[in-house]
Order: sequence, then structure tokens, then C-alpha cells
Amino acid sequence: MYGLAIHGGAGTLPRAELDAAKERQFRDGLAEALEAGYAILRKGGASLDAVVQSVVVLEDNPLFNAGRGAVFTHEGHNELDASIMDGGTLQAGAACGLTHIKNPIELARTIMERSPYVMLSGAGAEEFAVQQGATLVPTSYFYTEARWRQLERIRGGDTALSGLTISHVGTVGAVALDQQGHLAAGTSTGGMTGKRFGRIGDTPIIGAGTYADDRAAAVSATGHGEVFIRAAVAHDICARVRFAQLSLQQAVREVVHGELINLHGEGGVIAINCRGEISMQFNSEGMFRASQTAHSPIEIAIY
Ligand code: ASP
Repeated sequence: MYGLAIHGGAGTLPRAELDAAKERQFRDGLAEALEAGYAILRKGGASLDAVVQSVVVLEDNPLFNAGRGAVFTHEGHNELDASIMDGGTLQAGAACGLTHIKNPIELARTIMERSPYVMLSGAGAEEFAVQQGATLVPTSYFYTEARWRQLERIRGGDTALSGLTISHVGTVGAVALDQQGHLAAGTSTGGMTGKRFGRIGDTPIIGAGTYADDRAAAVSATGHGEVFIRAAVAHDICARVRFAQLSLQQAVREVVHGELINLHGEGGVIAINCRGEISMQFNSEGMFRASQTAHSPIEIAIY
């Protein structure tokens, strides 16, 4: 058995902002990312490789709020966060506050595999990346006209954009089970539009935005990061599966529609377990998501 699920962010997706043409672009972007990761699993490759590959494709797609196309901070910069976890070894890597790293998920993996640390931030993370052979990109690489216009609307006091609207939706993530029976999870984001510089959300926090444990599940989250950190969302789901013996669906439901709602936390998660069961649930209007397993066909959905 093997399988993969990916997400491209959750939030309020007004039909006016997501017309048919735009929706097609999002669906195509999800399909491309799913196929890139799934091809690795199909050939017997590792879940970690599949997760990185899917996330890289989404980071490179300017439609999504990760890598190129990331949202802007209030000051007009892009600050990127990412994390990854290996369910077989419980090894994890994370990087935050990045401004010159083309694919933050790859740096998170490098930190996991080639440093004694779990998380590096800002200039220290980027210097480590260079030492490990990565090339830095200019900050202009991340610029997109659409994200800039969204920042200007927020700066202009457009409160319609203050929630989890499509304006900053687009955090990306992937969870995978490989043919060797190992799980992996990864998440990457530009954060929240107009965020204060230096703000770090749940995405690079192991246990909040990302968690993987072969004994439970692999989870990647998207939503209002502050609440996801407080609820330790990704780890909470794994703990319910492991210690309370809940089914994956039940564990995800209790956290997304229970704990998060109680804290007014909007968003969702994707999760997979060692049996290849997938759960993709959200308490927002929509969540860009896609999945495929050895026993179930491609599913791509938004609402
Ligand atoms: N969770 C991300 C953050 O708070 C944002 C998102 O998923 O939309 O940085």
C-alpha cells in the first residue's frame, strides 16, 4: 500500500475571487504536484522524497503561498517557513524567516539530515544552506503582482482581507506513505499577508503544522497559525490515534471541528496513516487538496 495527499491552503474562497479560470489553474497546480510526488511512491521511492517533490512543485507555482508567490509582510518583504518530518525515525527539520531560499522544504530536509539541529532561522539558516551547497535567490524572485496588490489592499484597511481569505490562502503541504510502510509530512508557507516581520506561524513548528510518526499518522496543517500552535494540532491528532486508539478520521474530526473551533481557529489538515487511510478535513469554507493511493483514484477538491 502507498499513498499521497497534498494541500494548497485553507480559508475563505469567495466565488468572485475564484472564477472558473482561476479554479482550473489551482486544480492543475494541485494535479501536477500530486503526480510529481506520486510517481516516486509508485516506483517504490521514499515517502520523504515524495513529500519534498510535491511541495517543491507547489513552492515553484506562483499561485500558492509558498516559495515563489509567497505573501508579503506588512513591510513588503517575503519571509518563508517550512518543516519536514520522517515518521520512521521521528527525525525532523525546520527553517523559518527565510528571505533568499528558493525551496524552503529542501532546506528543512537538509537541516534534518545534515545538522545536529531541528530548526534554524533567518540568516543562520541561509548561511547553513550556502555551506551545504544551496544557491540563494534575490528577494525579487518571490515577488508576484497579485500578492503585492493584496498587501496594498490590507495596508489600505480592507478588513475583508483580514481573515483567512484567498488573499493569503495557499500554504502548501504533503503527507505520504511509501511501499516500505513509512510515513512523512512536510509543510511550507509565506505565512499570513501583512504579518509583522519576524512573525512565525505553525508551519515550521514540529507538532503544530507538521508531524509524522509511523505508529500514528503523518499530518500537515494549514490555517490560522497562532491557534494551530496553541492547539499543537498535528501532534494532537497523532496522539489521539496512538494513545486513544481513535480512527484517523475521528482524530482529525475532533481536532479540526472540536479543539480548533473552541479556540476560533480556522483552517484544516491532511493526514495519512500506515494503512493508507487519508483524512482531509477543514472548518473553513474551503481547502485546496488532492490525494491518490494504490487503492483509490486521484481526488482533487476545493470546497
Ligand atoms: N498556517 C500558516 C501560518 O500561520 C498560514 C496558512 O496556512 O494559511 O503561517
